[in-house]
Amino acid sequence: MKPDFMKLDIDRQDYGRSEIEISGTLALDMGEDCPGTATVQGTLIVDNLETRFLLNGKVKASGQSQCGRCLEDFQFEWDVPVDIMIMLQQERNQDPYEGQNKTMILHQNRGEVDLSETLTECLVLAFPIATVCSEECKGLCSSCGIDLNRQSCECTNEDFDPRWAALDDLENEPESK
Ligand SMILES: [Zn+2]
Ligand SMILES: [Zn+2]
Repeated sequence: MKPDFMKLDIDRQDYGRSEIEISGTLALDMGEDCPGTATVQGTLIVDNLETRFLLNGKVKASGQSQCGRCLEDFQFEWDVPVDIMIMLQQERNQDPYEGQNKTMILHQNRGEVDLSETLTECLVLAFPIATVCSEECKGLCSSCGIDLNRQSCECTNEDFDPRWAALDDLENEPESK
């Protein structure tokens, strides 16, 4: 495991394009069924444009999530697009980019910029509404609740739905009148 690295030292950054390697663990706050923490790993392209820095790329996040079908915890990996702009503070009042698009904007004049908070936001934004442990996950039986990945049950052959069952009864009823 690499040591945490989620900083950009803007004083030492060369002009033009370079790359930084991002790695570390972030605490997320998304609710019970979502990862509490996630590891993040990836490379960002850094463009030093003198008055601002652009950080772009895609990092990989990984954390323990709950399957929306079978409710098991599993290790979930997701791609996180990163689009950050660091503006030097003197430009703050003439900021033409604020609120313009999905770019996250940080203001800092010098020194090391801590990217962890912004990266956390990116991870949360990129997290899907529902996660599934595998495309083949059979989930839980809707009538008896058994985990169909591990066991089978009597009700698997027909999709049990009380409304259709009632219709079947009607159809099977002998016409007595
Ligand atoms: Zn599952
Ligand atoms: Zn069942």
